[in-house]
This record gives sequence, structure tokens and C-alpha cells, in this order.
Amino acid sequence: MATLYYDDDADLTRIQQRTVAVLGYGSQGHAHARNLAESGVPVVVGLPEGSRSRERAREAGLEVASTREAAERGDVVVVLLPDTVQPEVFERDVRPGLAPGNALVFGHGFNIHYNQIVPPADVNVFMIAPKGPGHIVRRTYTEGTGVPALLAVHQDPTGDTHELGRAYARALGATRAGLIETTFAEETETDLFGEQAVLCGGVSSLVEKAFETLTEAGYQPEVAYFEVLHELKLIVDLFYEGGLSRMRYSVSDTAEFGDYHSGPYIVDGTVKERMREALTAIQDGSFARTWILENQAGQPGFQAMRRRHAEHPIEEVGRGLRGMMPFLPQPGED
Ligand code: NDP
Ligand code: MG
Ligand code: MG
Repeated sequence: MATLYYDDDADLTRIQQRTVAVLGYGSQGHAHARNLAESGVPVVVGLPEGSRSRERAREAGLEVASTREAAERGDVVVVLLPDTVQPEVFERDVRPGLAPGNALVFGHGFNIHYNQIVPPADVNVFMIAPKGPGHIVRRTYTEGTGVPALLAVHQDPTGDTHELGRAYARALGATRAGLIETTFAEETETDLFGEQAVLCGGVSSLVEKAFETLTEAGYQPEVAYFEVLHELKLIVDLFYEGGLSRMRYSVSDTAEFGDYHSGPYIVDGTVKERMREALTAIQDGSFARTWILENQAGQPGFQAMRRRHAEHPIEEVGRGLRGMMPFLPQPGED
């Protein structure tokens, strides 16, 4: 079982005594910066000149500096930039400002685990990865609760990185819900596997193939869209609230019987074998290498796949149908 930490396991003063530089003010960055500041931690937000996020950070009452200056001033430097830009920004703006005994913090383990960022040995490195998007991390904090998070320590030259990490998590609101101990390897590998096998890859592919099966058999695309995509939300909400059992309890007996009868036949042992292959590619670094080289080449394959999948007939029919449902977010609203 996992080791868990709560508010009582964390000494807030350990982080309140440091200056925390939060680099990036996107989904995670805005939540970390605002929650820490409201927990009494001195925060400076680091953003490039001309960044669209600068105004929003200032409006929230936060001090904003250039990435380079913030990294220089921070005793604790939190890297909450898109993972693909982190290595370049780190070498240019962060490394020059790191002093021995400073701490470097990440929200995801990819760049450390796959050696895209190799911090100096005299700097402490840990990860706080909230298990929810930034706006929920922010909203729950203001409501007096929090989102559970993962804590991992990568290197600990000063011997107190774990305590500092727990204090940081408390300032973020995470220890109100529970902080789970992990490693950079476990967080990175399970995160990549989850998004490939189920959350993004597995589910999208299942939906596209089911839609193709129905429409190729002559059923109307509009009807197929509702059955294999739209209704997924109701099912996922039930999973989220009470696991697979809650979904099975809520649906009809016919649907539940069909689940046991056909589910394991459609997603069978061969799928699991390929899941293991995808996991091996994550573990041995070959998936990471493919993605890193793809980025270095300017993302030609990625952009082509993005275009091709955006043109799938299910996307076209979906745009029309969602326009008929005013209760859904409409294009441009967000
Ligand atoms: P976002 O894409 O939301 O944040 C981007 C921020 O970085 C913006 O403020 C943007 O500024 C700035 N930025 C973009 N490019 C550069 C650059 N080249 N130099 C300097 N600043 C730049 O990131 P996320 O919050 O989604 O992700 C941050 C980290 O948190 C990642 O490691 C991610 O894996 C992790 N994470 C994310 C989760 C999430 O819910 N999104 C959940 C858990 C972890 P501008 O406004 O100018 O574009
Ligand atoms: Mg991920
Ligand atoms: Mg049905």
C-alpha cells in the first residue's frame, strides 16, 4: 500500500521561509502560484516578456519577473511550463540561477526521468504532481479542501528535500486531501501508459472503430455518434463516482449482461499483450526517444496524425450535433 501524508505531517514554515519562483502561469502554474501565495509563501512568477499570461498573474496580485530573473531569485524553482519546452528554457534561463542547496520542482517526471534535464548534483529535486487539472487545484483550495497529489524525491543533497516537498504540498492544499509517495519513474511511466492505453489512445481508438463499424453497416452517423461517443460521459461519470460497480448497478440488466458477454471478447487478451508492449516501450525509453526526436524534427508526423484524425467523419457529424445541444460548450466559448 502507498504511504500517505496529511497536513499534520508537514511543517508549513519550511516553505514560508523560502522564495518560490513559479515558472509558467498556465493550468498548473496559476494554481501553484496563487495557492502558495495565499498560504503565506513569498512567490515570484517567471514569464517571458510578451507572454500572454503576464497580465493574468498581475491581476491576481502576484509579482511577475522574467523567467531568468525569477529563477535567479527563487530558492525553490518550480518548472510548470509545457514539458516539450522545459529542456531549452532550463538550459537558457534556469541553470544559470541555481545555487547549491536550491530546490528544483516539477509537476511531471518526464524530463528528469528521461534525462532531458540533468540538474546540478548540489540542487535538491522533487516532484509535486496534483491528480487533477489546475483549475480544480485552485478551486478546491479556495473552498478549504484540496486535490490529492504525488510526491517524489529525485535527489536530496541537503537531506531535507522530503520535508520541503511535504511543506510545499501543504501550501498547495494537497495534504488536506492526501499526499502519496512515489518515484519519478513510477509517476512518469504510469502517466504515459494511462494516457496511451486508456485515457487518450485506448478510448479514442475504441470510439472511432465502433463508429466506423456502425456507419459501414449502414446505420446513420448521427445515431452512431450518440451511441458510441456522446453517452460515454454518463458512463465515465458513474466510474468516477463509484467505480465500475456503480456503472453496472445503474445500467439496465441487458446492458450489464452485454458488458460481461462481449466486452472481454472485443478487448481481449491480444489487446493486453499490446498494452504490455506499449508499457515496455515506455519503460525502455523507446517511446520517449520517438517523441523527443519528433519534436526535434518539428513534429512532422505528429501534425500529420493530428490533421488526419481531426478529419475523421465522427468529428464532422459531432460538430453539427453539438450545435443542436445548447447546454454543451459551443465553439469559441471556452
Ligand atoms: P500549460 O500549457 O497550461 O502552461 C503553459 C505556461 O507556460 C503558460 O503560462 C505559457 O505562457 C508558458 N510558456 C509556454 N511556452 C513557454 C516558453 N517557451 N517559455 C516560457 N514560458 C512558456 O502547462 P500545464 O500547466 O498543463 O503543465 C505544466 C506542467 O505540469 C507540465 O510538466 C505538466 O506535465 C504538468 N501537469 C499538468 C497537469 C494539468 O492538469 N495540465 C496535471 C499534472 C501535471 P503563455 O501564456 O505566454 O503561453
Ligand atoms: Mg500525462
Ligand atoms: Mg444505448
